[in-house]
Amino acid sequence: MNIQSNFNRLQEGVKEACSRKNRKPEDVNIIAVTKYVSADTALKAAEAGVVHFGENRLEGLLEKKEQLPENAVWHFIGTLQTRKVKDVLPHADYIHSLDRMSLAEEIQKRADSVISCFLQVNVSKEESKHGLDVNDVMSFVDKVGKLDKIKIVGLMTMAPYTEDEKTLRDVFRQLKQLQVSIQQRGLHHAPCSELSMGMSNDYRIAVEEGATFIRIGSSLVGNEKEEVS
Ligand SMILES: *Cc1c(COP(=O)(O)O)cnc(C)c1O
Repeated sequence: MNIQSNFNRLQEGVKEACSRKNRKPEDVNIIAVTKYVSADTALKAAEAGVVHFGENRLEGLLEKKEQLPENAVWHFIGTLQTRKVKDVLPHADYIHSLDRMSLAEEIQKRADSVISCFLQVNVSKEESKHGLDVNDVMSFVDKVGKLDKIKIVGLMTMAPYTEDEKTLRDVFRQLKQLQVSIQQRGLHHAPCSELSMGMSNDYRIAVEEGATFIRIGSSLVGNEKEEVS
């Protein structure tokens, strides 16, 4: 696993996708998802130039944060259990998985400062996926307006596991449309300027459709848990 060449290849892929749509590659941030790898491997990614890191569990976040450079930016990308909120908040720069009011209220209660959150939206309507129903997003945005510790910086989704380009593109477009309709409301607590979408298999399409954060695990840092078995 040569992380430097993976990262170079990924940046090239982002650049190409951007040029197809007249976007600036600087507007697309690559998050290395390190949930399946050791802190040593995460450190190699940092040495290769990766700045954004994503973890889906508190333990992984703490372990890696301790060993990585101070300038690393931390994204909590997994289902966030309410009881873990107080421990996660001091260590995460972004929460990508705000998907229910009880979680929003717990963040409000525990936060010392304004927390940058993505609303996770279940665009594909797969039962296995977490996230708000598309039709419930707007009223959720309104309800969060009274919680002054939460800033809705953007929307996040997980596309279905498929190779079908049309299906994937359709999911990403729906998230983009939702973003535009939130932005049009000009709400102070919901600038919604970011879109967290795209993983190893579908990031090119996500970038073409407007992703500003892509979350890449296996094709950047690998999956050490799979390699052993
Ligand atoms: C694991 C994970 C990723 C990365 O997946 P890959 O297919 O390995 O790139 C991205 N987003 C979330 C929410 C994840 O849990």
